[in-house]
Amino acid sequence: MKNDPNKEWADLGHLVVKAKTEQLKKQNCPYCGNGLHFTYVPGDKAAIKIECKKCINRMWLDGVSNLPPWANEAGNTIQS
Ligand SMILES: [Zn+2]
Repeated sequence: MKNDPNKEWADLGHLVVKAKTEQLKKQNCPYCGNGLHFTYVPGDKAAIKIECKKCINRMWLDGVSNLPPWANEAGNTIQS
């Protein structure tokens, strides 16, 4: 049975706020299978952007209250 890319994309949004670097580096775009960019944007209203390197899919998560573990480990941008 094929996975539902919309659900996988939503799951990525949950994962990205709590994942470690190694977990995120294993993730691929649910729609096209290519790598992803993860960007943490610090500030009063910190945000995280997830962006596919190839297709048009991207997601902004606003109001991120805690520094995610991967950003603490690897800096504000990582890619898978
Ligand atoms: Zn993609």
